[in-house]
Amino acid sequence: MSGPPFLAGLPAAPGVAIGRAVCLAPHRAAVPRYLLAPGQVDAEILRWSTAREAAVRDLQRLRAGIDDASSELAALLEVHLLLLQDAVADAAIREHIQQHRHNAEWALLARTEEATRELDAAEDAYLRERKADLEQVSEHLLRILMSARLPDADGRGPAPVLAGLAPPAGTRDELIVVAHDLSPADLLQLKKDGFAGCVTEVGGITGHTAIVARSVGIPAVVGVRAVRAVVQPGDLLVLDGQAGRVWVRPGAAHVASYRRKQQRWQSDRQSLLQLKDTPARTVDGHAVDLLANVEQPLDSDAARAAGAAGIGLFRTEFLFMGRAGRLPGEDEQFAAYQQAVLAMDGAPVTIRSADIGADKPLDGMDGSSQNPALGLRAIRWSLSEPEIFLTQLRAILRAALDGDVRLLVPMITHASQIRETLALVARARRQLQARGLDVPSIPVGAMIEVPAAALTAPVFLRHFDFLSIGTNDLIQYTLAVDRTDASLATLYDPLHPAVLGLLAQTIAAANAAGKEVSVCGEMAGNPRFTRLLLGLGLRSFSMEPGQIPRVKREILQASAAAWADRARRVVHHDDPAGLLRALNQGSGARASDIAPCTYGGQ
Ligand code: PEP
Ligand code: MG
Repeated sequence: MSGPPFLAGLPAAPGVAIGRAVCLAPHRAAVPRYLLAPGQVDAEILRWSTAREAAVRDLQRLRAGIDDASSELAALLEVHLLLLQDAVADAAIREHIQQHRHNAEWALLARTEEATRELDAAEDAYLRERKADLEQVSEHLLRILMSARLPDADGRGPAPVLAGLAPPAGTRDELIVVAHDLSPADLLQLKKDGFAGCVTEVGGITGHTAIVARSVGIPAVVGVRAVRAVVQPGDLLVLDGQAGRVWVRPGAAHVASYRRKQQRWQSDRQSLLQLKDTPARTVDGHAVDLLANVEQPLDSDAARAAGAAGIGLFRTEFLFMGRAGRLPGEDEQFAAYQQAVLAMDGAPVTIRSADIGADKPLDGMDGSSQNPALGLRAIRWSLSEPEIFLTQLRAILRAALDGDVRLLVPMITHASQIRETLALVARARRQLQARGLDVPSIPVGAMIEVPAAALTAPVFLRHFDFLSIGTNDLIQYTLAVDRTDASLATLYDPLHPAVLGLLAQTIAAANAAGKEVSVCGEMAGNPRFTRLLLGLGLRSFSMEPGQIPRVKREILQASAAAWADRARRVVHHDDPAGLLRALNQGSGARASDIAPCTYGGQ
């Protein structure tokens, strides 16, 4: 399909925005540097601490205003607050001003550059990811220092950092921010100020900007390299957050067609919200469980708000990470699991034992493995640390006293691992019984994430109560494509016939054994695959809470029986992607829902 030329980026947050460009200046490039007179040093240090306090208040205020936003967002703000309040960095900047008599902006820039160099060199992937946070916090401080914002003498606080960008009163055009990068705090402010969308030069789909844009509902395209070189302030832009495209100064016909698309998108969102309490059932009467993936207990609120029938995947490893080597004890873990269980109010909560290793290492974890994704990770790590594993198992079993808890075991592959795992679960239960706690026996499930496990699914079905297919890893290991390597994104293909074959046979084996099977990888949350998975016999999907409404709508419109035959054809076709596209369109699935496949790093 041809059309006017566009700038291509990554589809970070869906929706359409049409408006005038507001270009955020690259503050770093314009940072002033000057030498202070000896008598000015104290005042400069005071200027620095005032700016820092203003930034902290900005973030605290934003944090206080987001109790209904996803807790992932709150966690991001928390990270930025911690960086802002870092006493070591503060001392280094004061010392720089004192010793070199440089202005605060320059001292801040010098400290940021030193810290980002250290992070670049870090072995730990988690620490390397903190670089973007550090740069965003520094940008926030620079904007305050350079806009000469005054302390809040009246107690109401300084003007918001991006207040200068707010749409001029009386303007009829909406505004779209074009920036090198935006912090979570910036995005919240943009949302408050009524901006219609944003485009950034850097960032990925799973990066912080994208996460926050999705959670606050601002259409966003990220990773549009050099967009600021092309776009002039005031240019008319059309932004398609679903396709990851930006049109600069488009013609009237294109704008009109996108206005219609925007209206359809908005009314679509409204109707989706009304589906929250509608049971997920296909047109031919098959009930489907739509469950939520969560990373921390507070995420259960988002799960409930989206109408999830339970938690299908609680990724517990986030409780273990970023703690400078001090792992959570039994009571601390129990409190976290119990919080999620109580919040779900009797609905099932599937807690996965820690999937530590590979791209989720512990602080200080030995990174000497040449191939961490093939190394000591997930259940391999847990079995190599039986006391840590037993501690986690006891915490999970105790939480089962308060609700419907299930245990899920990641990346299990060998019969010996099955025996050892189940023996440790039984031992943890005996340990609790010896303490006088009458903990129930809970369902234990295996994640199917390695082709070897999919090919021997009947063995797993003999020993486990349920299966959950982790397609993110199953695709990585089937196709030998690193899921975190963006340069291989086009090879990371969920519709490769080998992947589809493994999926089909695992689902069929579980159904034949009369045991529950779900998919909890990203495939489950992409409406493009909903009908196919239904056709393969899947009746349980677990996904990010925000993905539930669109997947539910697909289910409400699909016939599982009709798709059984179609799914068989897709699995055995030379071009499964082409056939699925044609079948999805033929069955009336909305083009706006059929997201392109963007998987790298998920
Ligand atoms: C998966 O691999 O599909 C999965 C759900 O686990 P994670 O993404 O946490 O590795
Ligand atoms: Mg996995």
